[in-house]
Amino acid sequence: MSDKVTEIFGIDVFNETVMAERLPKKTFAALKKTIENGEELDAQVAEVVANAMKDWAIEKGATHYSHWFQPMTGITAEKHDAFITPAPGGKVIMEFSGKELIKGEPDASSFPSGGLRATFEARGYTAWDCTSPAFVREDAAGVTLCIPTAFCSYTGEALDKKIPLLRSMEALNVQVLRILKLFGHEEVGSISCSVGPEQEYFLVDREKYLKRKDLIFTGRTLFGAMPPKGQEMDDHYFGTLKEKVASYMKELNIELWKLGIMAKTQHNEAAPAQHELAPIFDSANIATDHNQLVMECMKKIAKRHGMECLLHEKPFAGVNGSGKHNNWSMVTDTGENLLRPGKKPHENIQFLLFLSAILKAVDENAELLRCSASCPGNDYRLGGNEAPPAIVSVFLGEQLEDVLAQIKENGVATEVIQGGKLNTGVHTLPELKKDATDRNRTSPFAFTGNKFEFRTVGSSMSIADVNSVLNTIVAEALCQFADELEQAEEFDSAVKELIARNVREHERIVFSGNGYSEEWVKEAERRGLPNVRSMVEAIPALVSDKTIALFEKHKVLSAAELHSRAEISYEIYSKAVNIEARTMIDMAAKQYIPAVIQYTTELANSINTIRTAVPEADVSVQTSMLQEISELLVKARAAQKTLEVRVEEAAGKAEGKEQGLYFRMQVVPAMEALRAPVDKLEMLVAKNAWPVPSYGDLLFEQ
Ligand code: ADP
Ligand code: MG
Repeated sequence: MSDKVTEIFGIDVFNETVMAERLPKKTFAALKKTIENGEELDAQVAEVVANAMKDWAIEKGATHYSHWFQPMTGITAEKHDAFITPAPGGKVIMEFSGKELIKGEPDASSFPSGGLRATFEARGYTAWDCTSPAFVREDAAGVTLCIPTAFCSYTGEALDKKIPLLRSMEALNVQVLRILKLFGHEEVGSISCSVGPEQEYFLVDREKYLKRKDLIFTGRTLFGAMPPKGQEMDDHYFGTLKEKVASYMKELNIELWKLGIMAKTQHNEAAPAQHELAPIFDSANIATDHNQLVMECMKKIAKRHGMECLLHEKPFAGVNGSGKHNNWSMVTDTGENLLRPGKKPHENIQFLLFLSAILKAVDENAELLRCSASCPGNDYRLGGNEAPPAIVSVFLGEQLEDVLAQIKENGVATEVIQGGKLNTGVHTLPELKKDATDRNRTSPFAFTGNKFEFRTVGSSMSIADVNSVLNTIVAEALCQFADELEQAEEFDSAVKELIARNVREHERIVFSGNGYSEEWVKEAERRGLPNVRSMVEAIPALVSDKTIALFEKHKVLSAAELHSRAEISYEIYSKAVNIEARTMIDMAAKQYIPAVIQYTTELANSINTIRTAVPEADVSVQTSMLQEISELLVKARAAQKTLEVRVEEAAGKAEGKEQGLYFRMQVVPAMEALRAPVDKLEMLVAKNAWPVPSYGDLLFEQ
């Protein structure tokens, strides 16, 4: 197997090795220039690349090609075209031109544009993103050559998640280079941001999954009483993998390796039936594309193993939710990680400057960051079991916090806490070096050695948005620093003064305590940190004057593009809640209430039968149960009716913010009001009378 890994790795990818083999030297060199330096692509080069790509794909069995892109809804979209072109004599030949490689023209009208264009102006273009390699993919439709592309409108506005991400990477590059120049690093030609997204997911038995309309339609359970055992024993976390799950992970790894995705770590997560996969980090753009593929493969392969993969942020209430830990750092083309503190972080002024830029960026744009990590499902996760709070704060660890405290006091730091050795008290165990800092699992934005880990991101989301925002806000902080330092008379003292000032100004964002605690919520409020509780309430940050000025300045998104994204976010939110509410109504009306009526009828019949048979028998248990169940049934029915009214009312609201807020403030509470009596009923009604699999069935019996 280990030999095989190196053999199969990347075999389905049109990567640099394949290009070097198959492209004429000149073409390869020209393409590399475009990929590495962003130089414009020549049409003739594209022609040659297209042809080589087609030949390679056909050898792999491909019949179709697809421009693969990520519209603003966050899913991946693709339109398949066959390679065939008519040839004389009623025949066809397999053809693929440079034009077809570079540009596609899917009908854009079915993708949301958030008002960027009217439906009749349907033209949208996909443009080849040569910085993310093409690949072939096999499914029931056969083998398809997939070409990562960006998607824009007729007038060039971004209609996808990739364009702003690429623009933000360029913006960050420009500003980091200005700073590095000030430190005398002329040798650095470019920087890129590296991203390693850890992906959490649940696996449940597919047959049971298919019995739950809520899982099918919404990806999460809308009802369900807690099982007698939850995750309190912590026996699942890092536990031994079940056979079925292990064979799933094995196949998933192979599939991902073939696609050139460096799936590296896998383990069980905190909740029963929950798992995690982490790849080795890559440039943000590729990491984003790869993460989309990871999610797709996870879902596809689960079905082959009789399971369903749930990527929803909160498939089960009361149980750990799923997130995506977005590990982020900046790396130069000379291989230096700019977030590496080194052994003497207190003397590493360049590192401290980048660090204070990040503190400033996060503090000044906490709401925007929160918004970038928002999706309907994440509302149920944030602040819940084992999930970061909705409040954004930064964890730095003891060592760096101590350095910053010295800077705050004295303007400079003169000493540093070192890690030392780990003493296990067992002589036969190797002596281990101890990190200078412990971890804090509860922090939403944690420094973990040489990178920041943003943990608020939801498990089902594309990581494009968070990274676009991170890149842009850090670019802006660095831009302000560079503006100031480029004018400074004496760099050394100016940079120290700047760092100290920023540390003092933004220390409120640093927090190392328990982020899951109630006290933190109060403390954060005292510090004036925003606590944005839901997605709809987070969206305004996307179109605030500050955000618009920021994104326009760095040419990442225009005001019109930002407004369109806000509109789409409201739409996504409203649609998601609407579907959930309607699914609840449907399940209550057609499954739960009829099942309970039937059960109460049986109970009543049993009471009558017993009374007839033995008039003096004590049927108080049955009658009190009948009483209790009947009362809850009345409540459930009333709540269902109220929810119906709220949904109806929501439909009448103006689309966008008003409707989104209505769903959040009126429909969501009505959904909770319906869930409560139904969950109580589940505890009272006999198991075999209950119409859907329980939490226990789903979580413990895959
Ligand atoms: P941790 O134990 O801190 O979670 P891991 O080594 O498990 O760290 O890595 C978690 C994820 O972070 C992986 O995807 C890894 O590739 C990624 N990662 C590691 N270093 C960096 C870095 N410098 N920049 C971005 N991501 C990184
Ligand atoms: Mg981690």
